Amino acid sequence: MVKTITDPARKIKVFREADVVVIGGGPGGVGSAIAAARSGAKTILIERYGHLGGMATGGLVNIIPNLSDIYGKQHVFGLNQELLDRLDRRGGTSYPAGKDRGTADKKVVDYYQDANLGWFYLRKDLKGQPRVLYSAVVDPEILKDEFNDMVLEAGAELLLHSWGTRAITEGNAVKGVIFESKSGTQAVLGKVIIDSTGDGDIFVSAGAEFDNECDNKRRTAWLALVWWVTNVNLKKYDDFKASQPDKFKELMQELVKLDGYPGFFKGILKNMPNTVWYHCMQPQSERTDATDVEQLTRIDIRARKRALITFEFMKKNIPGFGDSFIMLSAPQLGTQGGRRIIGEYILTENDMESDEVFEDTIVTLANNDYGEISLKHPTLCVPYRCLVPRKIDGLLIGCRAFSSNDMINETFNIIPHCIAYGQAAGTAAALAVKSGVQPRNVDYKALTDNLRQQGVNIPEATGKKALPATRSKPKDFYYQKYRGPGKE
Ligand SMILES: Cc1cc2nc3c(=O)[nH]c(=O)nc-3n(C[C@H](O)[C@H](O)[C@H](O)COP(=O)(O)OP(=O)(O)OC[C@H]3O[C@@H](n4cnc5c(N)ncnc54)[C@H](O)[C@@H]3O)c2cc1C
Repeated sequence: MVKTITDPARKIKVFREADVVVIGGGPGGVGSAIAAARSGAKTILIERYGHLGGMATGGLVNIIPNLSDIYGKQHVFGLNQELLDRLDRRGGTSYPAGKDRGTADKKVVDYYQDANLGWFYLRKDLKGQPRVLYSAVVDPEILKDEFNDMVLEAGAELLLHSWGTRAITEGNAVKGVIFESKSGTQAVLGKVIIDSTGDGDIFVSAGAEFDNECDNKRRTAWLALVWWVTNVNLKKYDDFKASQPDKFKELMQELVKLDGYPGFFKGILKNMPNTVWYHCMQPQSERTDATDVEQLTRIDIRARKRALITFEFMKKNIPGFGDSFIMLSAPQLGTQGGRRIIGEYILTENDMESDEVFEDTIVTLANNDYGEISLKHPTLCVPYRCLVPRKIDGLLIGCRAFSSNDMINETFNIIPHCIAYGQAAGTAAALAVKSGVQPRNVDYKALTDNLRQQGVNIPEATGKKALPATRSKPKDFYYQKYRGPGKE
């Protein structure tokens, strides 16, 4: 039996009372806070680390993919596009020029293949020809600063170094959160609480239903550490690889035997030449639970060891790496799966093939990862109900923990998606406060109209009957089979 102690009841200082309280400042949380504050709600954003951006900055996961479909048509706009425009003005992003989106031009395709970034930039058409997507890489340091600016300009209050620990509840309604910081234990009260912790730290303590099943084969089941190596002479490296392929292969096999990690992306940020990015995924046998602190500790220690094994091996044995050094390792372990809320609607692969535009659609996403299915159904609409927990009031989800089965979550939980979910959650929270209703009762038309005014791409609803929320087991899908060239 697990040994327990009793936490004595005590008075806790209320640090702030707000309309909307957002916990977690990753892509979802930033989207939530900006949208809520811009919509006129008194908003506070609470983040455990000293910077915003979550995985997109602290995790060094700096690629914003799938803004367009394979035909080059852009679907994701709104805050995502605004962010890229702002970063562009500061030299903080690179992406294919408009004319190159959807192209099969060999020169452009080869550029992304050679950088090993095919998974983010290329998808095959029906003839098997790779085409270029609209995806962007971003400078994580500029992104941190830009996120701070955007949140503060919107008028939200920002509280860093503060760890949200649990929901304050009354019956089935969430009324605030307790957070821990160097200033001790304090509370923030709010009319709507948005859980943007990625892992659902707050909704779990509110007693919301959730799912955390995830097939071990899925990307979202993998924990990872990213690190960057710079001062690499990539020409020397390429020459060696091309002129001595057998020797190169032999050395990479040796590295794997030593528990090193052979694959990297060639960094294509214009302001950081000669830099390579390692997204070191833990081996399948090591795949674990992103909410188990002992496992997180074990994986982090091992991943950092692997980074050093890899770096030292490359420096010693691989031409081009002789003068290199580790520029940065991600301060935060890469986690992407975790808990998913059971919402009023659970998005599954059925929705991908139905082409339904829900009455409460909050964003249209490009559907690029499923070969023929994607080519026939290049978009997926996400309904607001995926952000609304069943039974629990006063709470919305604005992050990768949206209501979905593990297959849909694997594909549609990346940075641009989470920014969009946040934008919708923040807008809906402000509307709920303004009209004095629970988030689940927000007027869908008012929400979609409002999001359209913010530049979000939402087509007219098709008027079809909404499918019932299902918990169907994901089909063992075409995912692996149809993946584009190159993979993460
Ligand atoms: C190795 C790896 C590679 C990936 N590659 C890409 C890629 O190239 N492109 C892409 O688009 N996506 C990629 N992803 C996925 C993507 O990073 C995430 O899906 C996305 O960042 C999710 O955003 P989020 O806001 O939901 O969660 P997160 O980015 O996880 O942000 C959650 C935020 O909440 C904070 N937080 C958590 N708990 C608490 C708490 N209790 N109190 C206060 N704050 C808290 C965290 O510090 C963090 O800032 C990758 C993920 C990994 C792990």
